[in-house]
Amino acid sequence: MIRIHRVDLPESLARDLARRTGGLSAQKADAHRARAAWKSAKTTRSRLTGHLVEMATGVSRCMYCGDSLGAAIDHFEPLHETPLRAFDWLNHLLACTHCNSHGKRDRFPRDAVGAPLLIDPSSTDPADHLWLSLTGGAYEPLTPRGEATIAVFGLNRADLVMGRRAAFTRTKCMLRELGRCAREEAGEIRSSLSAQPFADVLAAMITASRLANPPAFLGGPEVVAALRAYEHGS
Ligand SMILES: [Zn+2]
Repeated sequence: MIRIHRVDLPESLARDLARRTGGLSAQKADAHRARAAWKSAKTTRSRLTGHLVEMATGVSRCMYCGDSLGAAIDHFEPLHETPLRAFDWLNHLLACTHCNSHGKRDRFPRDAVGAPLLIDPSSTDPADHLWLSLTGGAYEPLTPRGEATIAVFGLNRADLVMGRRAAFTRTKCMLRELGRCAREEAGEIRSSLSAQPFADVLAAMITASRLANPPAFLGGPEVVAALRAYEHGS
């Protein structure tokens, strides 16, 4: 999971959301009504999906696991708790079926004072709560929020751990190639790097490359130099 930067919506869509929220509020809508209103707002949902795809990593990847295709809009705060946030842009994230329907469902743990424990990657930097082991492929929690996020989304399930390890190996090869290839090819390799699933692996590699003494497992000076060049777009 990595930080997602939320885009501003066009005015017409922002007005549409405000109007729909006003409607739910006037009805004092419960979760059932909010869900029905959400389901019937097909055009609005389709426009929102377009903006979420623009924000997602890789090719429309899930904003929680970074692996599978983001298939649906997830209400970060579930509608059964906050039905009036059905059309709140700040409550919308793109999620895959596994994270949305099998992992999170309606689970939304809170701490002792009622603050959400799950990480919303569009408002919080996941790196403050989660640490990714590049060699092992698994996440380790740095905080109780990290712990809850790993548990609810199943971030350490076997397929994700294997996928991150494979992405680490693949990314090292691509970065070595980036350091050696002709200028014309570099653009294609950069595009491929940013289109890959598991953007968290490349992000963790960039973070490690910034250290005064980057760890040897990154693949040596050639890979570190390519990471720094990739980060600075040179
Ligand atoms: Zn997912």
